[in-house]
Amino acid sequence: MPSRSESLFQEAQTLLPGGVNSPVRAFGAVGGVPPFIERGQGSRIYDADGREYIDYVGSWGPLILGHADPRVVTAVQRAAERGTSFGAPTELESRLARLVIDAVASIEMLRFVSSGTEACMSAIRVARAFTSRDKIIKFEGCYHGHADGLLVRAGSGGLTFGVPDSAGVPSGYANLTLVARYNDVESVRALLEANQDEVAAIIVEPVAANMGVVPPAPEFLPAVRRLTSAHGALLVFDEVITGFRVAYGGAQELYGVKPDLTCLGKIIGGGLPVAAYGGRRDIMETVAPLGPAYQAGTLSGNPLAMSAGIATLNALAEPGVYDRLEQAGARLEAGLRRAAEDSEQSIYIARLGSVLTAFFTPGPVTDFASAVASDKHRFAAYFHSMLEQGIYLAPSQFEAAFVSLAHSSEDIDRTIEAARQALSRRNIPGG
Ligand SMILES: *Cc1c(COP(=O)(O)O)cnc(C)c1O
Repeated sequence: MPSRSESLFQEAQTLLPGGVNSPVRAFGAVGGVPPFIERGQGSRIYDADGREYIDYVGSWGPLILGHADPRVVTAVQRAAERGTSFGAPTELESRLARLVIDAVASIEMLRFVSSGTEACMSAIRVARAFTSRDKIIKFEGCYHGHADGLLVRAGSGGLTFGVPDSAGVPSGYANLTLVARYNDVESVRALLEANQDEVAAIIVEPVAANMGVVPPAPEFLPAVRRLTSAHGALLVFDEVITGFRVAYGGAQELYGVKPDLTCLGKIIGGGLPVAAYGGRRDIMETVAPLGPAYQAGTLSGNPLAMSAGIATLNALAEPGVYDRLEQAGARLEAGLRRAAEDSEQSIYIARLGSVLTAFFTPGPVTDFASAVASDKHRFAAYFHSMLEQGIYLAPSQFEAAFVSLAHSSEDIDRTIEAARQALSRRNIPGG
C-alpha cells in the first residue's frame, strides 16, 4: 500500500508542475517522495502519515519562533475577524514599518510587498531609477528571487556577461546583470572599472545563505561598500534571510556596514507573505506616488500579514532572544562537528547564529565554486537517513538549516544523535 504522502504526491503531480508550488519541495535533488505536511507545533511538523519530525526548514526561514506560535496565531485570528484585506491604508502598516525602521539602521523609509522576489525586483528598479543607470552586479551563488534579471549566475559563460539560469529570460535582459565572485573584492573592482558610470547597484546577500551558508570574509562587505560609493553605484543588501535572523538589526548591524537599500522578507511576515524594501529617504522618494519608479500590490500590507509580522518582531525584541539562538546554533554545530570527526567524514560546517550548513566537502567553503564541490550523493544519503530518523532538513545540499526559538536542547541533542547514525560508515561511504 502506498503511503498517504505517496498518494497525495501522485495526485498533486497531475495538477501542479512537479506536484509543488516551489521547485525544491519536489525532492528532485535528493530523490524520493516529499512528506505532505498536515500541521506544525513548536519545533515539530507532522506529515499525512502521522509521522513527527524535528523541523530545520522552518518554512525556509520565516518561522524563527517555531510553528503555530500562540502570539502569532492570536494576532492573525484577531485580524481575520476584522477583515482580511481592504486595499486601503491601515494603522498596522505604520506599526510594522516603525518596528522595522527602528531595528534596521539604514532604513529610513520602506515599502511592503508580498514576497522577497518582489522586494529585490523593486529595489533594483528603484536603484536604476535613482541613478539613471541600467546595469547591476550580483554574486555567483546568491539568490534574490526569480525576477528575470536576477536569475543569473553566469555559469560557464564567465564573469563578464550574465547567462540566464532559466529558460524564458531574454539574454538581452540578462546581459544587464554582471556577475562577480562572492568574497572576491577584485572581481567587483574589475566589473566596476570595466563598466564606468553604468552600474546602478550591487546586490548582495551580506551572509550568503542560498548556496549553503557562506559568511563574508572580514574585508569583503566594507570593501564593497567603499567601491560602490566611489563608483556612484548603490549598495543593496538582500537581507531576506539575514534580517532579524543573524541579529535583530540584520547582518548590517552585525558587520557595521550600511547599505543604501535593504530587502527584507521571510521573518518579517512571521509565516505570512510579507517582504519589504527600504533605505535612504532620498532614494525611497523615487517610489510612486512620490516619484517616477512604479511599484504596487493588491494585497501589499494586508492586515493579516502585518499582524503576524508585528507579533513576530515584538517577540524577537525581548531580551536574550539572540543569545538563545546563538547558544542553540552553537550546540548543534559542536555536536555535528564531533559526529563528523568521529565518523571520519570530511564535512565543512558553516554557521552564523541560528543558520547552519554542513557541506559534504573538506572545505573551506568561501564562494560558489567551493560550495558546489560538495558531494551531493553523500548529502542525499545523509538527508534520507535523517528523514527516516525524524529529522526534517532542507532537501538540498545548498540550503541552510534554521534553528528556531522553539528548538529545545533535547531536540538538538536528538538531532546530533541522528546525525551520528546517519554518518556512520554503514549508511554513508566515507569521503
Ligand atoms: C527567499 C529569498 C528571496 C526570495 O523570497 P521569496 O519570498 O521566496 O520570493 C530573496 N532573497 C533571498 C536572500 C532569499 O533567501
